[in-house]
Amino acid sequence: MTNYVIPAAPQVSVPVLGTDARFPVQRIYCVGRNYVEHAQEMGFTGREPPFFFIKPANTVVVVDAGVTATVPYPPLTKDYQHEIELVVCIGKGGKNIAVADAKYHIYGYAVGFDMTRRDLQTEQKKLGRPWCIGKSFDHASPIGPITPAAQVGSLDNAEIFVQVAGKDRQRSTISKLIWNVSEVIAHISNAWELQAGDLIYTGTPAGVAAVAVGDTMHGHVDGLTDIAVKVVA
Ligand code: MN
Repeated sequence: MTNYVIPAAPQVSVPVLGTDARFPVQRIYCVGRNYVEHAQEMGFTGREPPFFFIKPANTVVVVDAGVTATVPYPPLTKDYQHEIELVVCIGKGGKNIAVADAKYHIYGYAVGFDMTRRDLQTEQKKLGRPWCIGKSFDHASPIGPITPAAQVGSLDNAEIFVQVAGKDRQRSTISKLIWNVSEVIAHISNAWELQAGDLIYTGTPAGVAAVAVGDTMHGHVDGLTDIAVKVVA
């Protein structure tokens, strides 16, 4: 046992369907503007190369199956928004991974929210500053149970949506990803050596919108476990 001078943080982990064993989280990669309509609502064409940002592992909020998790309304923002995303869980690391080989690096998939302090992100964009304060805050990365890839059929045409109070906020299909899952893995692995335990939030469709204290977000991707997350004071 290593003797630490301060308490070591616990390993962040996510439940996996069908087993008591958990998935240990390393880095969280997020893809920016990866659906055309969302890129357009953010003021872009949707034709740019993929780009990425990173959130710390300890921004994860585990959402267990059938349970409504809670997230505190974060400080400093007046425009706290949901982004529903397909999350890819890397089971085998690597660098310069070929698109054709990317599937061999996937452990499984989950439904997640890339929560965003949009007003702060927008301000940082205008100033040419990093997005950290808009994206990488505490509790910013809710994620549901992971379904192992072997148990997931093709997600290519899966529907993805988030509802608040029974009404659609975002709805699309995974087929509308500008850069598909394999391409995203290939691109990231050219810039970083992917590690087993990395999560990739693959981007969000159009319809990002604000939530308030008391709202519950219901997230869905066909073939995966739904998530429910309530915003609390
Ligand atoms: Mn996002």
